[in-house]
Amino acid sequence: MQAVNLLLFAIEAVGYFTLMVTLLHFRQRLGLGVFLTALGVMHFMETYLAAVFYVALPFGAASPGSSVFFTGKLMMILMLYLQEDAATVRQPIYGLFLGNILTVAVAWLLQFHTPIDLPRGDGANVDFLKEMGWLMVWGTTLLYLDSIGIILLYERLGRYLRRRIILRFMICGFVLLTFDQIGFFGALHYFLDIPASAFWDGWRAKMFAVCIYTGLFAIYEIWIRRSGIPASVRPISDIFSDLTFRERYNDLLNRTGRDVLTGVYDRTRMEMEAPVMVREALRQGQFATVIILDADHFKDVNDRFGHLQGDEVLKAITLRLGTILRSADRVFRFGGEEFVAVCPATDHAEGIRLAERLRWTIASSVKTPDGKPVTVSIGVATADTDGASFTTVLSTADERLYQAKKGGRNCVVGKPGLVKTG
Ligand code: GH3
Ligand code: MG
Ligand code: MG
Repeated sequence: MQAVNLLLFAIEAVGYFTLMVTLLHFRQRLGLGVFLTALGVMHFMETYLAAVFYVALPFGAASPGSSVFFTGKLMMILMLYLQEDAATVRQPIYGLFLGNILTVAVAWLLQFHTPIDLPRGDGANVDFLKEMGWLMVWGTTLLYLDSIGIILLYERLGRYLRRRIILRFMICGFVLLTFDQIGFFGALHYFLDIPASAFWDGWRAKMFAVCIYTGLFAIYEIWIRRSGIPASVRPISDIFSDLTFRERYNDLLNRTGRDVLTGVYDRTRMEMEAPVMVREALRQGQFATVIILDADHFKDVNDRFGHLQGDEVLKAITLRLGTILRSADRVFRFGGEEFVAVCPATDHAEGIRLAERLRWTIASSVKTPDGKPVTVSIGVATADTDGASFTTVLSTADERLYQAKKGGRNCVVGKPGLVKTG
């Protein structure tokens, strides 16, 4: 009896693996959607079986739902990652997560229906659905963690076992399915009083399934794909960002609010961020210095060499700003050839030194097409000595810029007056 169950158990695992890997292998021809849909459909059956269908195996009672199919699904997620990338694998992870939440919501709504009695007599068991509801939410949360965990662990193991992909695959299965069994069984034990022996039975069945899948994975990798999977060279934090969609958000954030010509942040971004930077510095008991810079006689550059050459000069200026300013500082394009830098944790004297370095670097390295130096004038003001808000500090800096222009250009003006002339 147990032997028959074990044989069926193994046949189910081999069958599941063979079909799913075939769909994965031919995804370019079939479309990845075929593999992903099959994964989703099996997810429904696996949840149902895990709730109601258990068989006796030599190492205890287990459900093919949680051991063969749940284990298989997690290994498939890892295999999808190995053949595609984190950005692809997050699609089924999020799809499964959202689909399960939807299932729970619908199960909850169903209880408000009054269903018609069917002639066959077997009515819907809505109570069962409701009872399973919270278990599915918990199971789904765990699945989310399992899926991200299995990929990150696989990558981390790559540091020590670079070429041992089969071993890594197996360790990942052992670790994550143990984690899942603890999490899932913990809930069953706590809420439904399921005895501890069931934990070990289920755990052994999952470990057995991992062994079968590792064997099949080895056959597939060695005999069919015949390719060593290159070790990922990306840092783990990048992969994590991909999996959690953070990279797309960061990317969007980075691209929006950039000035197309110079690549520095634009004025809209300045209005959003600069006041926050100043406020945050003051809150931490620090100064924040605002530097405003305007190219000298820039109209002449345009008039003599044309707008396109003028653009090149502007790019050269921003390049110098980028090299001199520190990582916490931010540069914004304020107007045509005017730039504003916000420097947190910088007092006035330090701000002046920084501005002077900018002025000097630009004057000594940025040139017009005929080799004449391009210079800038700079006004500097500091929160909170020159005001407590970004707007007041910026207008003070702007007045000082005007003085710098009046004072002969190519110079920096700070609090006491003319600080330095080039
Ligand atoms: P000042 O020393 O007093 O600043 O003289 P200026 O000629 O630089 O005077 P102002 O700052 O008023 O002139 C700015 C000029 O910058 C006017 C405009 O033609 C030019 N400008 C503004 N935006 C751009 C741009 O994106 N590309 C180019 N090539 N020129 C620009
Ligand atoms: Mg100018
Ligand atoms: Mg100007």
